[in-house]
Formats: sequence, structure tokens, C-alpha cells
Amino acid sequence: MTFLKTDFQEISLSTKKRLDLVDITEHVSNFVKECKIESGICLVNSPHSTTAIIVNEHESGLMEDILRKVQEEFPKGAEWHHDRVDSNADAHLASIFLGHSKTFPIKNGRLERGTWQNIFLLEADGPRTRRILIEAMGV
Ligand code: ZN
Repeated sequence: MTFLKTDFQEISLSTKKRLDLVDITEHVSNFVKECKIESGICLVNSPHSTTAIIVNEHESGLMEDILRKVQEEFPKGAEWHHDRVDSNADAHLASIFLGHSKTFPIKNGRLERGTWQNIFLLEADGPRTRRILIEAMGV
């Protein structure tokens, strides 16, 4: 009989700018290597309403393009209703549309991802201290 195993890690990190990208691939990948799960899934979750988890290439030009696109799609101060409360509606909207989590397969004890698939925390209302919750589950 095979029992399902789970393992969990919480990361805390500081973002530097209002709109920022922090590469967390190494944290996630090392956690999966150490968690002794051979086959399963790994959830990467950001428990905030103004951040997102995104997956793509770590190339400085592309990273600037991503942030530019986020600003274009969700402009700050565009007469959003929520801005009457705490003026960060743009950040909430970015978080909603980009998503607060991503899931990856674990195969042969490793995080299975494409060569150009790095994992980033996207900060939309920084600079702040942010948490990332990583849960691995499998056999
Ligand atoms: Zn708000």
C-alpha cells in the first residue's frame, strides 16, 4: 500500500518596488528536491490580494515587458472605485487576472518545468514583505 506524502514550506521575501518581479524558482526547486516525493504535484501559492505567481523566462528585457504590460492593462489611478478606499485597485485587478497560484508536476523527485519556465512572484503593490506557501503532495 502506498501512502500519500505531503510537505510544506513557507518563504518570506521583501519586494523592492511598487511593481516588481522576484524569481523564486530556486526556492521551489530545492524544496521539491528535499521533500522526498518522487511523483506528485507542487502548488506555489501567494496568500495576498495584490500579488500574483507567474511563470516565464528570466530575461531582463522580457521582465520589463511583463511589468509594462501589467501597467498598461491595469493602470494606476484610472478612476477605479476601490481607489476611494486605499488607492490600489490596479494591484488587486492584476492579482485577480494573473492568478495567485500555479501548480507543477513532480517527476522523479524533481520539479518538472520547461527550460524557460522560471517562477516569479509578481508584486503589484510593493515594496513589502510577502509570503509564499509551497505545498508538495504525492508518493
Ligand atoms: Zn486595496
